[in-house]
Amino acid sequence: MSLSEDNKKIKLVMFDMDGVLFDSMPYHATSWNKAMKDFGLELSEAEAYMHEGRTGSGTINIITQRQLGREADEEECKRIYACKSKYFNSCPTAQRMPGAFETVSKVKECGITPIIVTGSGQVSLMERIERSFPNLFKSEWMVCAKDVKYGKPNPEPYLMGLKKANVDARNAIVIENAPLGVQAGHAAGCFVIAVNTGPLPDNVLLESGADVLYHSMTELSQNIEKYLK
Ligand code: MG
Repeated sequence: MSLSEDNKKIKLVMFDMDGVLFDSMPYHATSWNKAMKDFGLELSEAEAYMHEGRTGSGTINIITQRQLGREADEEECKRIYACKSKYFNSCPTAQRMPGAFETVSKVKECGITPIIVTGSGQVSLMERIERSFPNLFKSEWMVCAKDVKYGKPNPEPYLMGLKKANVDARNAIVIENAPLGVQAGHAAGCFVIAVNTGPLPDNVLLESGADVLYHSMTELSQNIEKYLK
């Protein structure tokens, strides 16, 4: 999909949160690795980046299927996810991603609505959005863990953002750092800007359906305006 075709007008920019707005992914990856280990399961930090965007139970079931040949039951999922959250909450506070504030500010200055679409339900992060990005995001249209059933790579979270904003996919941009998030945005029909802020090779994001790729939010902040026409 190209932005130059038709007379498209961008009305909405949907930002993923972890790894885009906050530099939180290293903490998620190490927390997943430690929690799985506590339950006799193996999930390397590198692999955790590949699962970014899934629901907690979605990730857990992939690992139990592979290692135990079965899905985890609800109780196991709860315990493992609680353990992962415990490790995550003991990590240092994730900092705002350099360049993220500038990117969101430019979107807003262009008269376009920025919203957050995330599978995360981390209370600490949600509360910090307003502190780190004051008066920038339209919180009524935010999509988070409690809103979604399937999670990424299902297009559901982005379709929900479009629905809340009453905007057509052709008039929206998705900004994502994770392969499954890129897939979700692409499947929702949006123009997807990938920002590779993690350890994965660029081609993983490009093959997931990214329309363009930048290597940092700072680099994106210097280029975002050309996509907002
Ligand atoms: Mg992310």
